[in-house]
Amino acid sequence: MSNAQVAVVTGSNKGIGLAIVRALCRQFPGDVYLTSRDPGRGQAAVAQLQQEGLRPLFHQLDIDDLQSIRALRDFLRDKYGGLNVLVNNAGIAFKVHDTTPFAVQAEVTLKTNFFGTRNVCTELLPLVKPYGRVVNVSSMVSSSALRGCSQELQQKFRSDTITEEELVQLMGKFVEDTKRGVHEKEGWPNTAYGVSKIGVTVLSRIQARLLNEQRKGNHILLNACCPGWVRTDMAGPKATKSPEEGAETPVYLALLPSSADAPHGQFVSEKTVKPW
Ligand code: NAP
Repeated sequence: MSNAQVAVVTGSNKGIGLAIVRALCRQFPGDVYLTSRDPGRGQAAVAQLQQEGLRPLFHQLDIDDLQSIRALRDFLRDKYGGLNVLVNNAGIAFKVHDTTPFAVQAEVTLKTNFFGTRNVCTELLPLVKPYGRVVNVSSMVSSSALRGCSQELQQKFRSDTITEEELVQLMGKFVEDTKRGVHEKEGWPNTAYGVSKIGVTVLSRIQARLLNEQRKGNHILLNACCPGWVRTDMAGPKATKSPEEGAETPVYLALLPSSADAPHGQFVSEKTVKPW
């Protein structure tokens, strides 16, 4: 088994994820895994970073596929006995003018952004070593979508006692409500991406609380963050930040020094804790 430290970034064959891997290759004192659902796209991204003199490693990971997640889990357990840094970056968004029915957009978006990210956490968080760092890439859109929820939903999503099961139920209810055409009547905002990212931010708050309760003394720090508005295939060329600039806050959270005891369980933007 390797004694090396290890970092894993999901959805890192392009965009912000690729920039996070690039920065970690330069700054993280251990092995850095670029992961991609498509091995061809992943290997091409590895080759691109190798051209820059960097040495990322590669592992396949489709966060929609539990078998793929478990294969990565087993690999990390057997080769490294766990992991030190996990960046949950993989995500999708329908374009604004996409004509796919809203209920389909809701199901597909929630499947990857919320349920896929949750499955990665379920399988990999138990492997995170003491002083580990976990970063869940959410979005400021989670905050605006939260403000667009009914008072009752806002109260639930801001609650310090909401459980993971309750959150999963609520995310499932959103999808079902869109199918029945009643999501707005039920207090949801009209954004599938926004609701999926509410899920990611609230999941992070819950997971941080569970770490406090179950692994006190392990000094693991887990946070959600927004990378900003970043020029990628997702956000388009008009966005204000380069992928490298978008990687700054996630990388800051991934590399919080071992002496740090905060931030933890927070929503962080521009390296600053934001109110939820
Ligand atoms: P992007 O350029 O579209 O990249 C998304 C990455 O996620 C790609 O590598 C994609 O792989 C991967 N991915 C999608 N579904 C996956 C799955 N099921 N399993 C594994 N990987 C999957 O988007 P980005 O702008 O870099 O976004 C990265 C993260 O930042 C996302 O979570 C996004 O919501 C968040 N974010 C972005 C912005 C922004 O302005 N760009 C703002 C706020 C938050 P493929 O190449 O195979 O599709």
